[in-house]
Amino acid sequence: MVDTFDVIVIGGGPGGYVAAIRAAQLGLKTACIDQFTGKDGKPAPGGTCLNLGCIPSKALLDSSKHFHHAGHEFADHGINIKNVTMDIPKMIARKDDIVKKLTGGVTQLFKGNKIRYFHGKGRLLAGRKVELTPADGSQTSELQAGNIILAAGSVPIAIPNVPFDGDYIVDNVGALDFTAVPKRLGVIGAGVIGLELGSVWSRLGSEVVLLEALEQFLPMADVTISQQAAREFAKQGLKLQFGTLVKSANVVRKEVLVTLEDKQGESQLTFDRLLVAVGRRPYTDGLLAEDSGVRLNERGQVEVDEQSRTSAPGVWAIGDCVRGPMLAHKASEEGIAVAELIAGKPAHIHFDTVPWVIYTDPEIAWVGKTEQELKDSGIKYRVGSFPYAANGRALARGHSAGLVKILADADTDEILGAHIFGANASELIAECVVAMEFHGSSEDLARIVHAHPTLSEAVHEAALHVDRRAIHRGN
Ligand code: FAD
Ligand code: AMP
Repeated sequence: MVDTFDVIVIGGGPGGYVAAIRAAQLGLKTACIDQFTGKDGKPAPGGTCLNLGCIPSKALLDSSKHFHHAGHEFADHGINIKNVTMDIPKMIARKDDIVKKLTGGVTQLFKGNKIRYFHGKGRLLAGRKVELTPADGSQTSELQAGNIILAAGSVPIAIPNVPFDGDYIVDNVGALDFTAVPKRLGVIGAGVIGLELGSVWSRLGSEVVLLEALEQFLPMADVTISQQAAREFAKQGLKLQFGTLVKSANVVRKEVLVTLEDKQGESQLTFDRLLVAVGRRPYTDGLLAEDSGVRLNERGQVEVDEQSRTSAPGVWAIGDCVRGPMLAHKASEEGIAVAELIAGKPAHIHFDTVPWVIYTDPEIAWVGKTEQELKDSGIKYRVGSFPYAANGRALARGHSAGLVKILADADTDEILGAHIFGANASELIAECVVAMEFHGSSEDLARIVHAHPTLSEAVHEAALHVDRRAIHRGN
């Protein structure tokens, strides 16, 4: 007999498992199929985010930050520690423990919500059927559902002539598991992943060189922020080489020889390890039977409409395998919206207010439009900004690099974008997201009482500065 469900979700990342939970909460009989196996050989739902992305990278970013502060900042506070050392295997084991707790948590959530979890590969067939190939090698079976949600995520992009070997030339998976600090680490791509993982190993002592094909740093960020960030990261010792296209890489006598091309022509660099972080592609390998009816677009993404419907009736797709930013919270919100739509509820996602965060030190976070986007689209705006260096709490903490910048409509004062480079930017941006979600104005933010002394006062002052009435800076 064919197992039948109201909803089958293929993929158990932050898109898929969240969609499954919301569907189950709404009373729908739900199954989630995920193929991921953890380092311990056990089923590990949670996708890239929990296993190989957001969470393990943040665990290593925190460990390496503590190490760096102990060696470089504690003395400023009068704390003198000699010979700070790092136990890399312990740091990695701590990270693995956190991942295990969270993937175990997802398994528990599946149980608690009465979601059938299948550990294996799902393939969409025609007629809302799914072929399940269990990971334990047992027999393939067929499942049927009223609605199917594709949440298959993404995988790293490889570049021609730079072959991954999982040891010397790695992607994010390898860079989360180095067993020792590489003396020289090359990173191809100065994007989000390259910066975060490059920062981890740089703080632990690697000489890190980021090789970036574009001339511009972080083109999707506001240019004031990206320029300040580039200066700050260079001060920290991250070597950023722009306009540098990597052509090939080879492992020669336990070293990685990289051939690159820049304005000066072709040259070579040698590293002990090379991280390829040139972006990710939607992962649809083996996902769709030929007659599934689901179309892919020219970028290999599952084609969806505004509400995540694919070209096959009753089949939806969310997260990294569809258009839009490859961010975990975007995938989760799409999952919730789709589950609600399936249950007959109204649901809507505001893509304009999806926040972005880069977990460097200081952090970079933004929401909405950049100043260059506003200029290009001819929208009249006013800018307010406030430096961390003028914020009491930032100085007390010793984290005074950075700024907050707010862009507001020149006529209506509605906030159109907020950009933060500085300590705790990842948390501070939430206030701006809320304000924008409610179509708030800079005046609204300016009239909200902010606790003193906090970093959030920098957001307040930037909002005041839009109207040239900041208190702790010249206007
Ligand atoms: P995924 O998390 O990729 O999950 C898809 C799951 O489906 C996987 O388990 C996959 O094995 C499984 N699957 C695929 N096909 C099938 C199939 N046919 N059958 C069964 N199972 C299948 N985003 C943030 O928002 N914040 C961050 O800090 C952040 N840091 C990151 C750091 C790194 C190093 C990386 C690589 C990514 C990071 N991301 C971050 C991005 C984030 O991980 C993704 O945006 C997010 O995981 C996308 O969720 P998803 O559910 O669409 O897909
Ligand atoms: P992201 O999309 O944030 O993961 O960033 C990936 C970065 O890698 C982008 O900034 C690309 O410009 C960069 N990139 C892609 N291919 C190459 C290459 N062959 N050499 C150097 N940089 C590259």
